[in-house]
Amino acid sequence: MIQFKDVPYLRPDMDALEREMNAGIERFKAAKSMEEAYFALQAMEYPRRYYMTMATLCEAYNTMDTNDVRWADEWAWFDETRPRWDACITCLGEALNASPFKEQLRVHLGDEMFRRAEVTGKAFSTEIAKELEEEGRLSAQYSKLTANLTVELDGKQYTMGQLSKLEDRSDRDSRDRTDALRQKAYAQIRDELDRIYDELVHVRDRMAKKLGFKSYTDMGYCRQGRTGYGREEVAAFRRAIEVGITPVVNAIFEKQRRDLGYDVLWTFDEEIEAWGQPPKAKAGSVEELFDDVFGPLSPESRFYYQELRRCQFYDLADRKGKIRGAYSNDVPLYRMPFIFETFDGSYGAVKTFSHECGHGLHSFIKRGEPFIDNSEASSDLCEIHSMAMEFFVWPYLDAVYSPEDLRKYKYLHMKNALSFLPYGAAVDEFQTEVYDHPDMTPAERTALWLELERRYTPWKRYKNEGFLSEGRKWQLQTHVYKWPFYYIDYVLAQTCALQYHFLDEEDHEKAWSSYLTLLRESGFHSFDKTLELTGLESPFAPGVVEKVGEKARKFLERNG
Ligand SMILES: [Zn+2]
Repeated sequence: MIQFKDVPYLRPDMDALEREMNAGIERFKAAKSMEEAYFALQAMEYPRRYYMTMATLCEAYNTMDTNDVRWADEWAWFDETRPRWDACITCLGEALNASPFKEQLRVHLGDEMFRRAEVTGKAFSTEIAKELEEEGRLSAQYSKLTANLTVELDGKQYTMGQLSKLEDRSDRDSRDRTDALRQKAYAQIRDELDRIYDELVHVRDRMAKKLGFKSYTDMGYCRQGRTGYGREEVAAFRRAIEVGITPVVNAIFEKQRRDLGYDVLWTFDEEIEAWGQPPKAKAGSVEELFDDVFGPLSPESRFYYQELRRCQFYDLADRKGKIRGAYSNDVPLYRMPFIFETFDGSYGAVKTFSHECGHGLHSFIKRGEPFIDNSEASSDLCEIHSMAMEFFVWPYLDAVYSPEDLRKYKYLHMKNALSFLPYGAAVDEFQTEVYDHPDMTPAERTALWLELERRYTPWKRYKNEGFLSEGRKWQLQTHVYKWPFYYIDYVLAQTCALQYHFLDEEDHEKAWSSYLTLLRESGFHSFDKTLELTGLESPFAPGVVEKVGEKARKFLERNG
């Protein structure tokens, strides 16, 4: 198979694509039987897969180096023309829901495609094309601003990645110095970050109001394609975390502080345990080390990983201009997802690589679906694919770590999985408040964040005054700028991933077979229905958050 670097790129001809899609939709509407409708839909798969393939390629090259003008221009073209493409997809969704063959088609395509088309359709209209373009432009500004951030040290400029490499994590003074430098770097762009966010909030609010939503929060839920629950369920879920998880995590950090013999556990100490050195991956490239993780894990992961390696659909290098963050994006014409990460050998990077390969395995397993809508799923489900994979690799990580380091890795992973829940809930509540009150000033937003930190993550102590202590941690969270309301999906998914981990410990066969069901059934049903098919408990069900938290707490007690 072709390697990623050799895949040709050709900017889509939007006029031609529009003509093709509109003709396809007309054929679908004119169908006289279910079969005619079915194959009219099928005929639109090629233009859809072609457009998505080019979009993924362009995004990949643009995010690998935001300073490369060619790809920045290409990506600007996508931002500019995306509303036209979205209009085609919305039009197709409306036709699907109006089809006289809807009931018969549902037997083949599942319910979810129809429901998702309905909710995402509510959040789109050509009336907001200008605002969408503006939103894309602001998002790109955020990426570029944070990707090119440098800080001066002894007369030389360092990127954030280079700064991390200079840090000796086992030395408290070194952590302190690096933390201060990192905050200094961000403080330089503080006003720009405020401006971009303020403009994003207002442009999104304008879109919501134009489309008749009370608040962008409601529109955000529709854009996320949420079909089975609303903001009341999410608020109750956040509350369960605040009440049931925050005190548990607080006690864990308190114990850590005592074990370390510190007066205060500063934020830069949070990943430091009394055992000293953080886990360090064995020598060698991550992709090679993981041959012995995904190989023995299962036949499915083995085949996927061999194919991924053969065609090199990934970029793990560190370079200036490369954006922060990681993703796995499908390249549908080549039936292989592309994985993006900056791999630095740290604990977080190993976890992220496992995470992205979980997304990758989902795309790969679904590569034979006749309809692209069935091979995609809402992100609450997709994040279970990835976060559960972070745990499924545990028994094989001796390929990456020494036994001693692996013990440390597992402890850190579990601790972070648990402490992530309150943090993620805080991010979600922050966004809900911000979009429900779009006229808040930047100062009011940072004050709100500090208040949420006090409630959800009371263990946070910032030693170095400046950026973070001002209530700005959310500004480092790409999702807050680029994908509002995505964040709670990680929290829901983590609750499910932890369930998978505990099941895996009891009965691997059962856990893996349920996971494969999850991968295959995602894209056909709502979030709750999909979970039902896998045997997982819904995070919204009473007592589930507490139960998962209790098991994690016991693990940490046993292994701490
Ligand atoms: Zn993910």
